[in-house]
Amino acid sequence: MKVYRIAYLGDDGETALGLETALKGDGLRFMRASGDYQGMEKAAEFGADIVLWDRDNMPPESGIPLEQIRKSGLTRQAVVAVLRPEDVQGAIKSLASGASDFIYKPIREDPLPRIIAALNTGQKQRRIDWCNRIIEDTNDQVKGILATLTDPAYIVSPEYQILWMNRAAEEIFGEGQRGGACHHIFYDRTEPCEVCARNKGPRWRSTLKNGKSYRFISAVVRNSKGEVEKLAVGTDITPDREVGTIHETFIANVSHDLRTPLAAIDQYVNILLEGLGGELTGDQRKYIEVIRRSSFRLHNLIENLIDANKILSGDFKLKMEVLDVQEILDVVLPRLQSQAEDKGITMQVQVTEGLQPVYADKTRIAQVVANLAGNSIKFTEEGMLQIRAGFMPRDEGRIIVSVEDTGIGVPKEDLGKIFDLFYRVEKDKVYVEEGAGLGLAISREIIRAHGGTLWAESMEGMGSAFHFSIPAYKG
Ligand code: ADP
Repeated sequence: MKVYRIAYLGDDGETALGLETALKGDGLRFMRASGDYQGMEKAAEFGADIVLWDRDNMPPESGIPLEQIRKSGLTRQAVVAVLRPEDVQGAIKSLASGASDFIYKPIREDPLPRIIAALNTGQKQRRIDWCNRIIEDTNDQVKGILATLTDPAYIVSPEYQILWMNRAAEEIFGEGQRGGACHHIFYDRTEPCEVCARNKGPRWRSTLKNGKSYRFISAVVRNSKGEVEKLAVGTDITPDREVGTIHETFIANVSHDLRTPLAAIDQYVNILLEGLGGELTGDQRKYIEVIRRSSFRLHNLIENLIDANKILSGDFKLKMEVLDVQEILDVVLPRLQSQAEDKGITMQVQVTEGLQPVYADKTRIAQVVANLAGNSIKFTEEGMLQIRAGFMPRDEGRIIVSVEDTGIGVPKEDLGKIFDLFYRVEKDKVYVEEGAGLGLAISREIIRAHGGTLWAESMEGMGSAFHFSIPAYKG
């Protein structure tokens, strides 16, 4: 059993005796010492859990000497003032200067309940102090790790003030920037930039003063005082960016150049099909239908390519709103249902009851579901497709959506690569000719922009499961 040690610091013999009599009992030890610094040190040596501080030790106008008490080694103990009933000012001053409570002397009432209550407060405070120390230690460790990075890292307050930067960030922006506004120091702006002002997701790209491009990820952290801070770490993507810009320009130009002749093909195919170029034989009509279908696929491919270009270059804005997952599914389900029916695949949809809403771009998330379910239908010959939405196991703050099929599956060696741009499993190219290997790369980028994760599980010949998780709307 834990023994609680109570120290009375004061020179009032009658009070000391009264306390000693009242506080004798199982689980309690009592000591008295003088009301000066030496007395405090003795109480610390005794291992006191609580200090009863006699107000007569001090001039009437002062409170309790908390600083001195702490210095003597009584670093966290609750202090209860012992004072006379008429000393109302003393009670107020004691509480104001850090006492947990007060009891009256001479001791008439049983002081134990109030002392136990003060002990309890002291213990709670100790637990809070301990948790705060852990937070401080963890924060220090994180800063220690970030300090050695060759890429910039910084912490800002919700008021956009720089609280900390690592050496790499100081090399870009100069030392001594603590306290300055981040938009001013990073980007020479007078107003917060959209990253902060619009609370743009946890990822963004920007070019810094050194002319280099960085991909930033950020996290909200709490300091030991409970204040929210934003920690951001950048990765230098300058070489990727340069190659990326060449790709983007190339794709943008080629896509644009392809659209014009394709429009002409469509136009003339229609003219021929309408018989404006003369009567068509059955065979001729069949051939032109093939041209029309191929041109339609090419059309889709170009539109996808343009979309992919926009998304992968980060040049897209999400139209965020609070939504139920069911509303998102309703956008795509009718289309999926008919595609599945055409192939004789059973489709099941299951949304957990009472599922929290999400804060998301309806069209973009619907695009992801359509892509995942579209793939499932494409790569399944028979069996079923299941779409499920629910809480992420062990993390109620996230919503998980799963698309599972009983299709051909993805070989183990390809599972990590199918999210790469233009990647298609070699065997599947024979199996289905349609597809450019863009869908999953686009989907992953869309989910990332929502602060989420998209991943896959699969067994060749058995089927696949694609899951994405996004944060639930917290209101
Ligand atoms: P595509 O337009 O080719 O479908 P994606 O990026 O959507 O492009 O998919 C990339 C590749 O991943 C596909 O070509 C296919 O090889 C594989 N894949 C995706 N989904 C599935 C699935 N449900 N079952 C089997 N293979 C799949």
